[in-house]
Order: sequence, then C-alpha cells, then structure tokens
Amino acid sequence: VDPSVAEDMEKFQETFKGIRDRFRLINRIGEGTFSTVYKAEDLMYDVYDNDWDIEEKENKWASPPLKKRRTGMDALAAMDEYAQQRRRPKYVAIKKIYVTSSPSRILNELDLLNDLRGFDSVCPLITAFRHTDQVVAVLPYFRHTDFREYFRKMTVPDMQIFFRSLFTALAAVHSKGIIHRDIKPTNFLYEPDKKRGVLVDFGLAEREEGPDMKPCMCGEQVNERRRRLQNSVAAQMGPANGYPRNDSRPSRRANRAGTRGFRAPEVLFKCTEQSTKIDIWSAGVILLTIMSKRFPFFNSADDVEAMIEIATIFGIKRMKQCAFLHGTVFESNIPTIGDKGFQLEKIILWSTCRNDGGKDGREIPLTPEEKLAVRFLERCFELDPNKRISAKEALEHDFLKEEVY
Ligand code: ADP
Ligand code: MG
Repeated sequence: VDPSVAEDMEKFQETFKGIRDRFRLINRIGEGTFSTVYKAEDLMYDVYDNDWDIEEKENKWASPPLKKRRTGMDALAAMDEYAQQRRRPKYVAIKKIYVTSSPSRILNELDLLNDLRGFDSVCPLITAFRHTDQVVAVLPYFRHTDFREYFRKMTVPDMQIFFRSLFTALAAVHSKGIIHRDIKPTNFLYEPDKKRGVLVDFGLAEREEGPDMKPCMCGEQVNERRRRLQNSVAAQMGPANGYPRNDSRPSRRANRAGTRGFRAPEVLFKCTEQSTKIDIWSAGVILLTIMSKRFPFFNSADDVEAMIEIATIFGIKRMKQCAFLHGTVFESNIPTIGDKGFQLEKIILWSTCRNDGGKDGREIPLTPEEKLAVRFLERCFELDPNKRISAKEALEHDFLKEEVY
C-alpha cells in the first residue's frame, strides 16, 4: 500500500470511532467527486453468517442468495452455492461519503440502494454507519477490471455480453422508476472473465416523476417559453460569434447532475421532465466509446460544447428538432456543424482508421455483426427520449437477445 494511502486509511480509522473493531482496511480503491472507497475485510463476518436468518427477519443485512423458496435438488444446489459463498473471506467496499454531501442526498442514496435490494445486477447495500457527521455505506466487494484495460480489445460478442449485463441492471433500476443519472464505465464494475457486472453509485440517482408523466414536453409553459425565446434580443440577432452578451433569454433550471460527455441532449437542454431514458443515452456513449476505441469519446468542457459535439454528429436539423421538443431553440453558425451530420458507421470507421483515408488507403467496412451493434447504438442515440429504446426493449433487440456464451 502506498504510504500516503496508508496514512489516509489510518486517519479514517482514527476519526471513525469503532470502525477498527469491525473492519480491517486493506486498500483504497476509489476516490471520486463524492466519496472515497476502501476495500476491507469484515471481521464480524462469522457473527452474522451464523445469525443470518435472524438478521434477515430484522431486515438488517442484504438478503443472502437464497431469496426464493426452492425445492428438491434446486434447493440443495442453491444451499451449496450459498455455503460456498459464505465460506470465502468476506471482503467489503466501504464507501466514505464526503461530509460536504447534504444529509438528504446521503439519505437518498441509501434509500434507493435499499429499494433495489434483491436485483443481482445492482450492488446491494449491506449496512451503513454514521459517526458524527461522517456516513459510510458498506457494500460487498466486487472484483472488477479497469475499463481502460479491456475496452479496446472487445469483440462484438464481448460487447453483447457486457451490454446484456448493463441493460439487465438498467431494466431492474428503471422498473423501480429510478433514474441512475451517472451511467459511465467507472460506475459499472465489470469483470470480463466473469462476464458479469454490477451497477454501483446511486449518489446522483433519483426517482422519476409520477407514472402519469406526460411525454417530454417540459411542462405546460412550453409554448409560452418558445415565444419568449423567439422574441428575445439574442434570438433576433441570430447566431453571434461566441456567447451572446446581455443575454435576455429566459433561463431555466433543471437537474443536470451527471458526468460530462455522458449527458443526454434533454439534460443539456435542461428539460424539466427527465426520464429513465437519460441512462440509455449514457449507455450508448459507452458503446460508442468501445466501438470507436476512443475514451473519452466526448470531451467537452461545458454543456454548450457538449451540445456542439452532439450537433456535429447528428446534424443541425435534428438538433433543432430536439431543442424544439424541449421548448427551446438551438442555433449555431459553426461551419463544422453540417445539416445532416455523419453516420455513426462512418464515425466508427474514421476513429479506428478503417476508412479509405486510413493506413493502406483501403476501407475496411463494418462486419455484419458490427452493423448490428451500430443499429442498436442508433436506438440508444434517438435524440427524442420518447422514441429512444427502453432497457426492457433493449434486451429484446437483436443485438442483445441471444445469449452469446
Ligand atoms: P463516487 O460517488 O465517489 O463515484 P462510487 O460508488 O462510484 O463513488 O465508487 C467509486 C469507485 O470505488 C468505483 O468506481 C469503484 O472503482 C470502487 N467501488 C465502489 N463500490 C465498489 C464495490 N462494491 N466493489 C469494488 N469496488 C467498488
Ligand atoms: Mg462513481
């Protein structure tokens, strides 16, 4: 362990009373914007191992693998599997949530994790502790490989396995009406050998608005908003160089939480009625990253740049339609943004140097299976969230339907 990490772990154990009696910290495995995550051994593992049925009744710990009542051989096999898992040393991930996070935000994360218990594709919450203002969440430790190490090597069948796993997790989360809001490689812990991944980090997740939510029209004031926008000084002057000064256009507030480069267009346009479809867009960005072998694929400094990147690919026409849908307007005089944009297929060929301008001046076209992946990608990249594929539909799509094992 790196000396500075050792020092950090020591400090954490000093300040969080009682943690030493319960866990042996092994290493620091993650340092994000909102938390630090440590790998640890649970020293009380045996205690609740023996008592798990009692604890289960009290609803204290994550449910053990035996969830459903099973009979005959099935039950025996399941019990054996359970015993095997229980005999292994119990490693956990301790997520120390930064004290700068608001209590309601911390509660939200724990509450949503609690709601998602029982879905294998979502990292379950074992328990949580608080010492003064410090909250820690305890999760089972999942071995995984850094995305950067494997994404360039992935074949189409590898992608199918990866995305089956990711979309299974998304279907589970979305079935509960929960939007993850931060789908990206570091929040999906994937192990290529195991061909399985789990979704983590519900720090930005939120519940979707009620079931009678209207199709995305950003509320009733949408027409009024469009009128005000069109009449504003900046809009009447037409696209100007750089950002408009004295911008009198009505501003708008919406949840924009998420990570640069993974935000769906409706998030960028500050749509106030965002849905689970924003996660599908982000999953699409991961697929584009893998297929283009470029990470990060989108690399904008802010939301305006992000819109420019999206407009460059999809063309100004579709971008304008998309803006209109969310009660706003999109204008640009940037010469590189064309009317029609580019086909995803072309972008993938360019970025992998397989187009005719590539190494030996000969185009290496996409294989039929790669074309299938692009067809799926197009469904994830529908600019209109209402038309974008859902996680459940995605699992029925030709790209993911067949289990490729
Ligand atoms: P943050 O909100 O700070 O991004 P995350 O929940 O995403 O926190 O955790 C940060 C990192 O810690 C993850 O990207 C991952 O590398 C590691 N991590 C989180 N949970 C686990 C876990 N259950 N098992 C193994 N590693 C984990
Ligand atoms: Mg994270």
